[in-house]
Amino acid sequence: MLSSTALELYGQLEQRADLPAEAIVKQDVLRLGLGFDEQVFSRAPEYKPKDYFIFSFDMVPLSAMEGTLAQRAPEEIRLSGGPLNLLPTVISVRVNPQSPYRVAWREDGPRLLLEGEDLGAVEFHRKPAFYGARLSSGKVISEIVPVLEWGYLLYITAYRLCQYWGTKEECQFCDINENYRQQRDAGRPYTAVKPIATVLEALEHVAEKDTTAQAYTLTGGSITSSLQGQSEVDFYLRYIEAIEDRFPGRWISKAVVQAFKKEDCQRLKAAGLKIYHPNFEVWDARLFAAICPGKDQHIGRDLWLRRVVEAAEVFGPSCVIPNFVAGVEMSQPHGFTVVDEAIASTRAGLEFFMGHGVVPRFTTWCPEPLSALGGQAPPPLEYYCKLLVAWREVFESHQLPVPPGYGPAGPGRALFSVSAFMDVIRPA
Ligand code: SF4
Repeated sequence: MLSSTALELYGQLEQRADLPAEAIVKQDVLRLGLGFDEQVFSRAPEYKPKDYFIFSFDMVPLSAMEGTLAQRAPEEIRLSGGPLNLLPTVISVRVNPQSPYRVAWREDGPRLLLEGEDLGAVEFHRKPAFYGARLSSGKVISEIVPVLEWGYLLYITAYRLCQYWGTKEECQFCDINENYRQQRDAGRPYTAVKPIATVLEALEHVAEKDTTAQAYTLTGGSITSSLQGQSEVDFYLRYIEAIEDRFPGRWISKAVVQAFKKEDCQRLKAAGLKIYHPNFEVWDARLFAAICPGKDQHIGRDLWLRRVVEAAEVFGPSCVIPNFVAGVEMSQPHGFTVVDEAIASTRAGLEFFMGHGVVPRFTTWCPEPLSALGGQAPPPLEYYCKLLVAWREVFESHQLPVPPGYGPAGPGRALFSVSAFMDVIRPA
């Protein structure tokens, strides 16, 4: 007899023949997280463990992980084959020892099991050559410039904290500040502010040894007062300037920051920034205020929206990519309880942005236990499947280009690992 998770998965696969099976399985694994048999870690060829590049993206705290899970869980898996004959599908790892999805070792290597039933072969991303480099500060390079998306994206969290502080300001789904504490408590060399010189030194090694990475994301928490005497835009601008000055155009430059004034966007663009991510998180106005109280109080939803539209005049609409944290609009106590209502709300946001030529992406909400919304069950798989359909319908109806800075699109090709939006894009 099938478990409830398997029933839900196979039910959606049957109902959603218009979606790639890869996208449906990927969303379910992201939604529920992954467990691992300990022997997988010692038997797999050398691979890249999770670098905890900004948030924990786990469903249990580090302190609750047994064995070597906290140190050795891989960053991503690539799943293929199995009874669904899946094309290679890159999926970010959200550690959850209780998940019905589990990676176990079998005769021919690691396999993904859904409550014991085989779903396909699993690979872990090998460590890139530049991970062997040592920095003059003694820091490991993976702490300064980790790599994600199967090697496509360098991720530079310049500031590992956020000045939206406490539950009255922090985005309710976000564990950045708590994750910083738990990483420090676990003894990781978790640098709060990464010196620009150290970032440049790390990138020298990348430039010398790597040809896979095509983009970098510069990001960190919001700066509401000042950091090192600088405003948020000034703080992050210096990194862009320094990187683009030293390695002009070497990688596609992306920044995940707040919604800035148009003149500040112009400064970022002049510094060499190509892709701007003023993340919107959740569309509904009431939920925006409840779930993103800091953003709502400091900037406000209406101004945020206006600035996104103005930013499109600076960067070009296709290079402004706000993120939705998909599923958080169904979090409780404030969120929708009916899937179709949640989808209708987010669809209205997609229509608004895409009507301006701006293509939002989405990531999959991870109810991290140390966040304010932690410990909740995720939305059903039906929600994510309907969201993928809605995203693709609106995207196609506006005849928009594939979002730049995410690498290839489509099943078997997509590298973006924290949602399946790139997996469902069809050839034009
Ligand atoms: S702005 Fe919100 S999502 Fe971003 S780091 Fe701060 S609390 Fe987290």
